[in-house]
Amino acid sequence: KRVLVTGATGLVGQALIDALVNRSYSVNVLSRRTQHTDLPGVRFYGWDVSAGKVDADCMDGVGAIIHLAGENIAALPWSNKRKQAILESRTQTIALLYDLIQQKNMSQVKAVISASASGYYGDRGDEWMSEDKTPATGFLGQTCLEWERAVAKGRDLGIRTVSLRSGVVLSADGGIYRKFANFINKGIGAVPGTGKQWLPWIHIDDVVAMYIFALEHHGVQGAYNMAAPEPVTFAAFLHAIAKHLGKPMWLPNVPAFMLRAILGQMSEMLLDSTRVSAEKIRNSGFQFNYPELQGAVSAIRGKL
Ligand code: NDP
Repeated sequence: KRVLVTGATGLVGQALIDALVNRSYSVNVLSRRTQHTDLPGVRFYGWDVSAGKVDADCMDGVGAIIHLAGENIAALPWSNKRKQAILESRTQTIALLYDLIQQKNMSQVKAVISASASGYYGDRGDEWMSEDKTPATGFLGQTCLEWERAVAKGRDLGIRTVSLRSGVVLSADGGIYRKFANFINKGIGAVPGTGKQWLPWIHIDDVVAMYIFALEHHGVQGAYNMAAPEPVTFAAFLHAIAKHLGKPMWLPNVPAFMLRAILGQMSEMLLDSTRVSAEKIRNSGFQFNYPELQGAVSAIRGKL
């Protein structure tokens, strides 16, 4: 039971590693970082993807890979160079591992479970998005498409591949919740656009549970949405956070044109309306711990 995790030092990866170790998995981690924290049951290996270099020992005894690596999409403005880095950090990374598997004729790797994002669908109004809907033509949609294609190439090697299209992850440790809670706490929280756009969200515990579910259920294959079954609008999402922090949201909405002017293409992260269906993964037997926002936000607040 040894799993290789890429991007393991990030928000999702850290929580996932804890859970894997607790379930008696041994974990190999691939990271660009040279400074590593000592974690029981975890071995660190290095890679430099743009140079095409990876420590081949990372694959020792590994039966499955969880692929989370990727440049953070919200960290910097989307210049052309940045867009290329966002894409290649997701596609070239997994391609490098497939090359290694092929070169060394490794048949013990049975599954690759990868992150993808609900940005796959883009701006779709009130329509429910099941996994068979077409991808968006914008940057995020096309990035997710290429990312999933790169992952699915593992099938040619006889590997079961899964792409989990994640909504925004709710966690006390970072991500969207921390960003908006900070603004709201300072009294400068404001709803982007009309606020009527649907926001796919998911609690970190359910994210971790779904990765492990996909890892352990061999019938799970292909693309699955990873978002709570009860999506909310962006306005409802922010008001739920404000209510739990006991803070008012008194500022007017920030008009869409203003966000577009300030953020450019990146504004699609705040303005796109994506109503994601959780039917497929539920029908496979997965049960959400936090199906509705109220419970998820209360659980986060308890930890802050
Ligand atoms: P983080 O940004 O917190 O962490 C991603 C990790 O990827 C980093 O810790 C880093 O590891 C690695 N990484 C970054 N750039 C590169 C690169 N150029 N080459 C190789 N590795 C790189 O991400 P999250 O944990 O939040 O998310 C995990 C995955 O889920 C990501 O792919 C993300 O796009 C996706 N996702 C996340 C959502 C969210 O709300 N958090 C929503 C939708 C999708 P190191 O520094 O050790 O190399």
